[in-house]
Amino acid sequence: MPLTIVDHPLAQHLLTRLRDVETPPPVFRTLAKRLTIALVLEAVRGLPTVDLKVDTPLEPAEGRVISPDLAAVPILRAGLGMLEAVTELFPEVSVGYVGLERDDETLRPTSYYEKLPPLEGRHVLLLDPMLATGGSASGACMKLAERNPAEILFVCVVAAPQGVEKMERDHPEVPVFAAALDRDLNDKGYILPGLGDFGDRLFGTGSESGLPRLSRPPG
Ligand code: URA
Repeated sequence: MPLTIVDHPLAQHLLTRLRDVETPPPVFRTLAKRLTIALVLEAVRGLPTVDLKVDTPLEPAEGRVISPDLAAVPILRAGLGMLEAVTELFPEVSVGYVGLERDDETLRPTSYYEKLPPLEGRHVLLLDPMLATGGSASGACMKLAERNPAEILFVCVVAAPQGVEKMERDHPEVPVFAAALDRDLNDKGYILPGLGDFGDRLFGTGSESGLPRLSRPPG
């Protein structure tokens, strides 16, 4: 399973600002979207294209366009923070959803939602920002693979060595694209140094949301 670290300076700049605990959710969402654009550009480098002749205002030109067989599947809920980047880059993309959550005790993924378009022969961008234990990514790949896509491209923001190893073991055919390969996981399955809980930071649901507290008038 090839792992590609997108080390473009802009990607690294955006990642560093995402990691910063002081970055509040509205900024976090914008940064996540911009970074996803950089990651997806790398992930779709090998997509098939179709030759197309167009007329410029001056003369005919030969070009190529991406064939429309593209699907995006964010893993709920944190993957939602990466979806808009894909729908903006590829307005024709079909979108499906997989809901997997981690059991905090066992750290294993359990499925609570699945809504997928036809995937047969399609190139699928599977989106989940944090490749931690790899349980969700691997579980989602298994669900997608049952539907015979042409390929699955896994796009994440940060990967942990444990997640990369699991993907290598379970889905060696799925390339992984990330902005960073971090050091380790802590005993709760969070990536170190990581950026905390991506979903909480995206949606402002954590205690460390980074938002300044609104002071309430007394009484
Ligand atoms: N999910 C997150 O949101 N963060 C991690 O560090 C690991 C899993």
